[in-house]
Amino acid sequence: MFEIKPFPELSWSLSRHKTLLTCARQYAYDYYVSHNGWLEQADSLARQTYRLKKITNLEMHFGSVVHDLIYQIIQDVLHNRSVPDEQTIIDEIRHHLNRGFIESTKKEHLWRNRPKHYTMLHEIYYSQTNTLSESKVKKITDRLQTTVKNFFASRSFAEVLRKEDMKFIDSEKFRFMKANGVKVYIVMDLVYQDLARNKWVIVDWKTGKKSEEDRNQLALYALYLQQKYSIDSIDDIIIRNEYLLEGSFIEHQLTEQDLINVQHLYKISIEQMKGYLEDESKNQPLPLEHFPMQNDPRVCSRCNYQELCFPAQV
Ligand code: SF4
Repeated sequence: MFEIKPFPELSWSLSRHKTLLTCARQYAYDYYVSHNGWLEQADSLARQTYRLKKITNLEMHFGSVVHDLIYQIIQDVLHNRSVPDEQTIIDEIRHHLNRGFIESTKKEHLWRNRPKHYTMLHEIYYSQTNTLSESKVKKITDRLQTTVKNFFASRSFAEVLRKEDMKFIDSEKFRFMKANGVKVYIVMDLVYQDLARNKWVIVDWKTGKKSEEDRNQLALYALYLQQKYSIDSIDDIIIRNEYLLEGSFIEHQLTEQDLINVQHLYKISIEQMKGYLEDESKNQPLPLEHFPMQNDPRVCSRCNYQELCFPAQV
């Protein structure tokens, strides 16, 4: 029987950690206030917050559509189905982007009721103009062509096509490991064993620019894999970032110290998160005013919760 819980379970992920570093108020909205907001009987603040949480932006929407299609293409290869060609994939992505735009501009009423099933773009929601800037449309159109071309030419896709030399690990949507009883979530795009090189390979598709956070993310993946599959040495794990915009990849060989650092990071971060709880046993948060707001207007201008924080301005 489905049980309605007043508070969510405490968990940790790198994106949750980054949200807390960005703005504690945003963290509260994302991980507490929006809880149960998908239920019809939830209070109006929970429903509004959940709806706002689901807003995306053009770059994120693009990234998510590309990731979904790459996943499908790889499944096609692994299950011996025919793979769509480059132009078909470009058309498909364009179709999803257009649909997202139409849903944002013409179907707001549907999104309001079922925000998980419809797209609302931040650029549309907060500008109220029903148009996207020409420069942004051009940026995404350019990315579309480049990304698809680079995916098909990528080292990792070439390895997927040599599937008999690889052993693929089932992709699970929500992978996690436990740290002091708290679930630490890991989202990995593709994992396989390269049988010829006797290495584990973790692939991360990037549709945006390189980030300084990449190394922590990779160390977390490696730590998970090492624990889950009892891999003797970190030297047996290759982590590969495929930068689809640039058409390049970087392979990282992590050290034991990287793993120690990332464990240190999530332990400290979990303690910090617990500092925002009124009752740790229930994961009940402190009242909202204990989650300070961000002072930088540039950060707020990109945030989904402007209408909650600054109701007079939107
Ligand atoms: S609008 Fe600004 S203060 Fe409010 S949650 Fe977002 S980043 Fe934080």
